Amino acid sequence: MANPEISITKSEHETFARGERLARTLRPGTFVLLHGDLGAGKTAFVRGLASGLGIDPDEVSSPTFVLVQHYHGPMPLTHVDLYRLESADAVDDLGLEELAIGGVLAIEWAERLPRAIDGSVSVTIEDLGADVRRITVNG
Ligand code: ADP
Ligand code: MG
Repeated sequence: MANPEISITKSEHETFARGERLARTLRPGTFVLLHGDLGAGKTAFVRGLASGLGIDPDEVSSPTFVLVQHYHGPMPLTHVDLYRLESADAVDDLGLEELAIGGVLAIEWAERLPRAIDGSVSVTIEDLGADVRRITVNG
């Protein structure tokens, strides 16, 4: 993929700010695919995305039991967490393509998607120890 952009963050707030900055570049219909282990900071990044899209970031929680959450705003955000997805087939039942219409679709645990999504932005967050994270944004 072209132009990977790497950022090092040293706090949850800095990861939030990186999400906020990305949000300003996104067009309606964009998929943001988040990769990284539990506790990497994916949800913190999505809170930043929400803020950058004009949505109250406090509304965004870790959707541990709810697979899909919608947030209304100037540019709507749909937040999906595939952590508890039963099977790859179950992704098809979510109807992700429709969920993305008119807004941004952020997907945590995107490594569980059965296939690549054309034109998506990929965000990989790696824990470098303590509060340090390496965030790689592609696309
Ligand atoms: P995930 O959604 O990837 O499981 P969360 O965003 O829910 O992760 O949680 C990340 C945790 O790591 C939070 O407790 C947060 O305070 C902590 N943390 C420490 N340093 C950072 C950082 N640089 N960026 C993001 N989160 C951080
Ligand atoms: Mg999370």
